[in-house]
This record gives sequence, structure tokens and C-alpha cells, in this order.
Amino acid sequence: LIVPDYPTIGYIRGDGVGEDIFPQAKRVFDAAVLKIFGEKKKIDWQKLLAGGEAFASRGEYLPDETLEQIKENLIAIKGPLMTPVGESFRSINVTLRQKLDLYACVRPVEYFTGIKSPVRAPEKVNMTIFRENTEDIYAGIEFSSSSKESKKLINFLERELSVHSIRFPETSAIGIKPVSPDGSKRLVSAAFDYAIKMNKKRVTFVHKGNIMKFTEGGFRKWGYEVAKNYPTFTKLEYDKIKEEKGTEQSEKEKNIALKSGKIYVDDAIADNFLQQIILNPDNFEVVATLNLNGDYISDALAAQVGGIGIAPGANINYESGHAIFEATHGTAPDIAGKNIANPSSLILSGVMMFEYLGWQEVAELIKIALSASFHSGALTADLGGKLSTSEFTDTLVQYIKNY
Ligand code: NAD
Repeated sequence: LIVPDYPTIGYIRGDGVGEDIFPQAKRVFDAAVLKIFGEKKKIDWQKLLAGGEAFASRGEYLPDETLEQIKENLIAIKGPLMTPVGESFRSINVTLRQKLDLYACVRPVEYFTGIKSPVRAPEKVNMTIFRENTEDIYAGIEFSSSSKESKKLINFLERELSVHSIRFPETSAIGIKPVSPDGSKRLVSAAFDYAIKMNKKRVTFVHKGNIMKFTEGGFRKWGYEVAKNYPTFTKLEYDKIKEEKGTEQSEKEKNIALKSGKIYVDDAIADNFLQQIILNPDNFEVVATLNLNGDYISDALAAQVGGIGIAPGANINYESGHAIFEATHGTAPDIAGKNIANPSSLILSGVMMFEYLGWQEVAELIKIALSASFHSGALTADLGGKLSTSEFTDTLVQYIKNY
């Protein structure tokens, strides 16, 4: 990515708590860039409209020019957007991801000392989730109960494909789950590229291939195919050696491979994986998974390290370079407008954005400031603290200025 000294970055403030947290997060970003680069480098912020704010002024939730600007600038950062209630509305977030083909949803989950966690050893949690973002049951191909499309599909399945073993009530709503080799492989490749770049030692494919053989099972199969293009030692190789020469030999060969710098690749069935991340989270480093699994796993992991108030995320297409960094939580209508929301999720998404820009020192400085604040007990209400959104941000900005 070639980044100018004054890159134009679009921002969508977001609805609900977006109004509380975005202006605060921006203060932190600007303070850190100024501290590191002085006037040599600076973000040229460009306000983009989406969500309630766009509807109020334009009569539409996602104006074309917002999409066009993101396409042109490559990079944007956003607060949460509410999905209008009603069957005819598609989520603006999902639309943005699909229109820009942002196929990799990347969510690092890391523990910061000083934050209360419901698990015994949260410091063992340090994982990055690569969630496929454009396919699976989230592709949005759904037909309502008793619609003529559902009825036609049910007839077709029964008549043409003789799906007799499962009985569809005529009134079933139907959802389609497309999972392609290309879609799976590009996501898995992104996970391996990341693992190599970040010196991670293990990549795990999470799936429900035991039940959904061709979709989730396909993801697992294609994942292992991709692994062959990378310096890896896979569970499949391990099992083969074990079968032929015994456990001792397979352990030995695994150790030799890992010592030589290879990445260990295995897979886990999603339900067991959700159990394992509570019992043995340090067994996992990089996780590649399909859309729906990824959604559940990200939130379950975020809860272990302090909740969605500090869970960052990015949606990326590594080929085109397009990327949208975003707070992973919603608009939090229950606390919106009260200046009490935690801006850390958005701030950490900014950290990911600076890493993506190659402005590593800025990213590190912001992370150091956050760590120091959490460690000293400077916390917002969701983390058991007393600071308002703006007070918490004041602490961060002050820390950055004095650094
Ligand atoms: P939510 O994430 O808005 O809220 C869930 C809970 O977490 C609430 O108790 C809320 O107060 C708390 N919370 C969320 N963000 C917080 C923060 N920064 N600091 C402290 N506490 C925080 O989920 P919801 O209530 O299910 O959804 C509300 C709206 O958000 C819906 O319209 C939904 O469609 C939308 N949504 C948007 C996104 C997105 O833009 N990426 C993601 C999820 C939901």
C-alpha cells in the first residue's frame, strides 16, 4: 500500500453512541499522529454520510457518493450504524462489505491488564479471527415462510433432487448458504499471510463440517489445500504419520517442523472450539472461519477480555486494498447521548488502521496509552470504572502528549 503523507481517510461517525465515541476517538488519532510525525504527516479527514445522519439529510441510508468516496480513498473508519427495522431493509454494514467485496473480517482479541474478566486467566487470550465476510448464510439469500419462492424451492428440492429424508413443512422459510472454494481460499490465504507477518505459530480452521459436509466441510478441505502453499505442518500430516509410524514419531516430526519455523495447522468443530477457547485459549493464535461461526466466536472471545466496548475490527479486501475499520459493537441505544460509552473499540480499530497504513509507531503509541490507562484503573462504566467517554479520552490524550 502506497500511502501519501497526508492520506485522505473517510469517516462515518455512526448512529447512537457513534456520536459520543467518534469525536473522542478522532482526538486520540490526531494527537498520536502529531506526537509521532509533527506536521510531516497528517490525516486529511473526510466526513462521509451513512445511517441516520444520511437519511435525515439525503433521504437514504447509504448514499452512492459515500461508497464512491471509499472506493477512491481505499480506507475508511466508521462508528456503528443502526439497521432500520423492517423486512425490506438490508443492514448497511453488510451492504458496505458486499459492495466493496471486503471479504476478510479481521478481529484481534487481546487482554489488557486492569480489565475485569469473567474467566480465570484472560491473559492467555491472544487470538486473531479471520471471518469470511461475503458468503455463507449471511449472503442474504432468504425467502419468507410461505412465500412463493420458498414454495417453489421446496417443490424443486422434493421433485428434482428427491430430498425425501428431510421433510419440509410447506410453510418453511428458506435461507441459502453459499460457500465457494475461491471465497474460502482467499480468506484462508489472508489468515496465513497474517500469521507469517505477525510470526504466529498456529492457524486453526473452525467449521461445522461434521453436519454440513459440503459447505462447512468444504471450507475445511479448501483450507488444508491452501496450507500446502505455505510453510506449514498440518494435523492431516500428523495423523498420517501417527497411523503409519505411531504417536511418538508424529510428535517428533511435528516438533522438528515447528522448530524449523513452520506453522502448525489444525481444525476444530465450532461447538467444541467455543468450549476450548474458554478452557484452553492459549492453544489458539489465528482462527479462520466462515461468516456465521466468526460472528459468534468474535463476540464470545471479546466477552473474555472485557466485552464489546474494547473489541476492534476491520473489513478488508487485500487485493483491491479497500478497508473499513469499525467498532464491532452496535449503536447501544440504551446509553447513547450520555457521554458514558467506551470509545476503546473504535480507538483500537484505529490502531489496526494505522498498522494497515504502515504507521506502526502511531499504532504502538495509542496502544501503549490504552494499556497504561487500563492498568492505572482509568476505566469507563462498562469496565467497572467511573470515567465518562470524554474524561477517559482526556487521560489518553494527556498520556500521548506527555509521552
Ligand atoms: P449493541 O452492541 O448496540 O449493544 C449491546 C450492549 O452493549 C448494550 O448494553 C450496550 O449498552 C453495550 N455497548 C455497546 N457498545 C458499547 C460501548 N462502546 N461502551 C459501553 N457499552 C456498550 O447491540 P444491539 O443493542 O443489539 O444493537 C443496537 C443497534 O446496533 C441495532 O440497530 C443493530 O442493528 C446495530 N448494530 C450495528 C453494528 C455495526 O454497525 N457494526 C453491529 C451490531 C449491531
